[in-house]
Amino acid sequence: MLTTEDRKCSIIIFGATGDLAKRKLYPSIYNLYKKGKLSNNFAIIGAARRPWTNEVFRENVANSIHDANMNVDDNELDEFLNHFHYLSFDVTNVASYQELNELLSQLEETFSIPGNRIFYMAMAPQFFGTIASQLKSEGVTNTSGWNRLIIEKPFGHNLESAQKLNDELREAFDESAIYRIDHYLGKEMVQNIEVIRFANAMFEPLWNNRYISNVQITSSELLGVEDRGGYYDQSGALRDMVQNHMLQMVALLAMEPPIRLTTDEVRSEKIKALRALRPLESTDVEKYFVRGQYGPGIINEENVNGYRQESNVDPQSSTETFVAGKLLIDNFRWAGVPFYIRTGKRMTGKSTKIVIQFKELPMNLYYKSDDEKHPNLLIIHIQPDEGISIVLNGKKIGLSEGTTPVKLDYCSDCPDSINTPEAYEKLLYDCIIGDGTNFTHWDEVALSWNFVDKISNVWESTPAGDFPNYESGSMGPKVSDKLLAEDGFHWWPVIDDSAYSI
Ligand code: NAD
Repeated sequence: MLTTEDRKCSIIIFGATGDLAKRKLYPSIYNLYKKGKLSNNFAIIGAARRPWTNEVFRENVANSIHDANMNVDDNELDEFLNHFHYLSFDVTNVASYQELNELLSQLEETFSIPGNRIFYMAMAPQFFGTIASQLKSEGVTNTSGWNRLIIEKPFGHNLESAQKLNDELREAFDESAIYRIDHYLGKEMVQNIEVIRFANAMFEPLWNNRYISNVQITSSELLGVEDRGGYYDQSGALRDMVQNHMLQMVALLAMEPPIRLTTDEVRSEKIKALRALRPLESTDVEKYFVRGQYGPGIINEENVNGYRQESNVDPQSSTETFVAGKLLIDNFRWAGVPFYIRTGKRMTGKSTKIVIQFKELPMNLYYKSDDEKHPNLLIIHIQPDEGISIVLNGKKIGLSEGTTPVKLDYCSDCPDSINTPEAYEKLLYDCIIGDGTNFTHWDEVALSWNFVDKISNVWESTPAGDFPNYESGSMGPKVSDKLLAEDGFHWWPVIDDSAYSI
């Protein structure tokens, strides 16, 4: 049973002056504070290179909270900011860790914190290993309370580098103390996948290859690489999106019901689903996966650059900004059901959606023509809107005969309903209470890299000759449609839902 004592903690943010801290972490911590989810006994230490004072740091935190358009009470904010302290920090210098330890001991006394410490790695991944090992060697993890490490993506660049990073982290932290962030797992509707599946008698009995014909997962972005060209050109959509977010959604959709809702049981089912992914041989890659790179185009009536013209991108770059693929899951439940995934930048709009397409009934006398044929769909809207839709067949209204698709919508985060908390807010809270369920276990990371490495190895040895192969503002290269057409399917619209309604 969790006690209030267990929730009292210090959070050390490495990379406190960076973009992630500013845009996501400070507003999330403030929200937790406002909702009373943080006890008053907490301290935040911002560690980064700049020689800031506590005052400058607090001013920056306050600005980031104001910029997040939150409902801010100024008195409450001042009280909140008193918990924030800054440490000018050099990750490679042993003395920095000693200073950190001293500051932590001091703040733990001031705020009566029983030595519980969260170390949040919000800086470039090449430092993750060094920080973890120095935290241990300089005794910063040697406290009377618990120690937890939150680590951002990317977790390695391939299986080999991920394994190396993991070995370094494991020298200082147990697997159960490592919280690998995949912020999709903090999203309301991603967490809802399990509930929709396992808490509804109208879905769970149908959730298999007898009734489902295919599953489609799309995560499209309208934006290009913006100012992340340097990072992205070394990464690409496969590593940036598929290895983590897309495969995590596949695992949640495909897993068996857990026997208990504990971290270990849920993770073990996800791991089994990932183990059942049919491995790709090098010769299969071209058949099952499609890559794309955006060229120039028009978005919101403005001309936009192609990927190769973006700053910090190689003008001859072969990095993919779009991936579509067909995955097969070789187990009893899913044999024969393709899971199609696609993700990309500079597409028609920003949208993450899952469409479950059900099989046709063996006989349907009510269709008056082939045009009327419409399968049942369950659509899970992950972002920007959150909710579910079900597409059914209904009778055409009035005297006319035949059927028409009817769409039933449930929207959980619409303008007229409550805003759901940010993913980071939920994940930070989970870490504070020691719940690792919505973080990725090392086995999931390893299995995902193992799958993705096969594809990147082939792509790296045979650069795409046709890049750029899709226009900015489109839904990706035409060949991605072929992936489905060969199986007799097509991508369901994800940007404009009106296609389904009467
Ligand atoms: P950033 O470049 O904006 O910030 C980097 C931070 O690290 C700065 O505070 C900088 O002072 C600090 N830093 C760098 N070198 C240092 C050193 N030698 N000693 C001490 N401090 C040093 O980066 P970011 O966008 O905030 O990303 C941080 C991490 O989060 C990265 O791993 C990134 O991949 C990951 N991430 C970021 C986002 C995002 O939205 N920004 C999303 C997902 C994951």
